[in-house]
Amino acid sequence: MSFSSGSCGNCYYFECGGQAVLIDAGASIRSIKKAMVANGLSLEAVSAVLVTHDHLDHIRNLGSFCKRLNRPVYASAQLHKALEHHTFTAPHIGGCRRILEAGKWNPVGSMLVRFFEVPHDASHTCGFAIAAEDRKFFIMTDAGRVTDEAVSLASQADVVVIESNYDVDMLMGGPYPHELKMRICGGNGHLSNDECASAITRFWHPGLKAIFLCHLSENNNTHEAAYACSHAALEAVGAPVPGKAPVCRTPSRALKPGSPKNGTFLGVSDGGGTTLQAGAFSGTPVLLRPLPREYPSPLFNL
Ligand SMILES: [Zn+2]
Ligand SMILES: [Zn+2]
Repeated sequence: MSFSSGSCGNCYYFECGGQAVLIDAGASIRSIKKAMVANGLSLEAVSAVLVTHDHLDHIRNLGSFCKRLNRPVYASAQLHKALEHHTFTAPHIGGCRRILEAGKWNPVGSMLVRFFEVPHDASHTCGFAIAAEDRKFFIMTDAGRVTDEAVSLASQADVVVIESNYDVDMLMGGPYPHELKMRICGGNGHLSNDECASAITRFWHPGLKAIFLCHLSENNNTHEAAYACSHAALEAVGAPVPGKAPVCRTPSRALKPGSPKNGTFLGVSDGGGTTLQAGAFSGTPVLLRPLPREYPSPLFNL
């Protein structure tokens, strides 16, 4: 579940095998709780937080989450160092600090988590591969470009969440200052729809059951443009795309048992201001729940 995706604040909920974790804490505790309650979930059930990087739209509420729930916060050593000195996290993160070791699968409860470095202009930016039970999940937001390691991990995942931040023409023709445009489209900024689509052609495999496009720019993208680009990429690799809705605000439904057995579901995580189901949530919740057991597959081999 993405409690929010985009510049307004990012927070994803991932649950597998009875264990729930948050990935980033950019949305407010109040809104996270509200979205969870609306989906029959409990904030208290969250056992840990994984952090991708120290931009405010990902950590704005991490400090208050630590203060309130005192759950372990997993991040790379470099990122933890930055979080220890960050105004928003420094006062509360101390006892929650857990370091993810580089280049290996780290146990986080019953899950195994491996981070990979992502080019982006924060102190240290990571994406995550998560293996839990026989499920494999990949998430990479805020990426200036797609590395070979990311492609390797995504090419083994059941579910991929990947940034599709901007439409090149909208960005270049838009009102942003030249410097900011260059920052966004540079190798340490964000992935365009085209770059995301190109990555999909590199990592798509027949076992890939769902792709969710996330972190869409509110000013430089549309759901339709992001969807069309990645849809074309899936067609180019010969992947059937079940479902017709160009925008899926409740992707979890697509992953329930009974969903199409063949093909790769493509969903778009809203860029902000809408709610998962009832319109009461500021941000974009997207459920990322385990795939049905009818899709067994081996664990990542990295
Ligand atoms: Zn960022
Ligand atoms: Zn971001």
